[in-house]
Amino acid sequence: MAEFTQSQKLHNVLYDIRGPLLEHAQRMEAAGQRILKLNIGNPAPFGFEAPEAILVDMIRHLPTAQGYSDSRGIFSARTAVVQYYQGRGIQNIDVDDVYLGNGVSELITMSLQALLDTGDEILVPTPDYPLWTASVSLAGGTAVHYLCDEENHWWPDIADMEERITPRTKGIVLINPNNPTGAVYPEHVLRQIVDLARKHGLIIFADEIYEKILYDGAVHINAASLTGDDVLCLTFSGLSKAYRIAGFRSGWMTISGPKRAAADYIEGINLLANMRLCANVPAQHAIQTALGGYQSINDLILPGGRLKAQRDLAYKMLNDIPGVSVENAEGALYLFPKLDPEAFPIESDEMFALDLLKQQKILVSHGTAFNWIRPDHFRMVTLPALEDIEDAISRLAEFLSTYKPG
Ligand code: PLP
Repeated sequence: MAEFTQSQKLHNVLYDIRGPLLEHAQRMEAAGQRILKLNIGNPAPFGFEAPEAILVDMIRHLPTAQGYSDSRGIFSARTAVVQYYQGRGIQNIDVDDVYLGNGVSELITMSLQALLDTGDEILVPTPDYPLWTASVSLAGGTAVHYLCDEENHWWPDIADMEERITPRTKGIVLINPNNPTGAVYPEHVLRQIVDLARKHGLIIFADEIYEKILYDGAVHINAASLTGDDVLCLTFSGLSKAYRIAGFRSGWMTISGPKRAAADYIEGINLLANMRLCANVPAQHAIQTALGGYQSINDLILPGGRLKAQRDLAYKMLNDIPGVSVENAEGALYLFPKLDPEAFPIESDEMFALDLLKQQKILVSHGTAFNWIRPDHFRMVTLPALEDIEDAISRLAEFLSTYKPG
């Protein structure tokens, strides 16, 4: 019998958020156990609904959304993206600089596939949203991780970033607001990164999918509003999070800066966009309504809003557990707590998460799944209702009160 094995290309590709831990949880569920899943940033299963206008608009457009669209996407949606970014200080973009995708995920892999040759390097944060590291590897490149510093609000460590630049470095990935840490970068930090990109001729990949999920007056600045005409910037965002329609798969990517100098790269992106024909057309119709309509996300993140209340409770309860500390999230949907290595000398954070799952039926993601450098963190989503957050963190506290790693 012939044996079929996976390609060599996949040997360095990891995406552990949906890895063995989730499979274990699914087996427990199949056996009739109830698992509190704090592992995936998917708003809908936690009772968050899409704005009504988006659903109505998509349904209205279904009859005319049966064919393929232009490979970059429908004109009205791309125009809405241009207008949105123009209002946020991004200059010199037009409708042909916008690409719609089946979520940001597809556009991340496309943008890296079109750019990287074997051995090319991309600076990616640690911790990161692991699709970035995985996509760099899949494209044949090398992800070189720069430190985001927990002692300094989880902001990128600019000196560390600069030290890691080599003649093979092609770009810097910024995830802002950050998954998993919840950090939102201030203007002076962004400007330092833009200056580095300018000095070393690097592309900025700005993953800003959480740009509208901000707490306590945090302000988000789009990197592309600071890059000007001389730094190429690819900006990524979409409807999965702020508009709660992750399942519809709708995102966009915008190219700004010195596009003439990047003409060959852009031709490569166009080729890949053509090859995948187009993004899901009904979901493209949601974009104009989403960006132009009532921004109901604000009702969830402002004082009195569900997302803010859940984040506040999780933050307080986690910090009350002996040996656990966490920076508060200024944005996004996650907390990334630290387990004091003296109290909990953990060698495998995946084992820690598995033990927690087996004993307390709570599923979190281990920190090294986000390419974090030590086995001393985990990520939880702040999407569950208050009573579930309370239940989950109480169970975590009980688990840790007797936990002996190894
Ligand atoms: N980027 C970040 C930082 C994310 O957290 C996620 C999803 O969790 C994505 C991209 C992918 O989003 P999409 O649903 O648009 O593919």
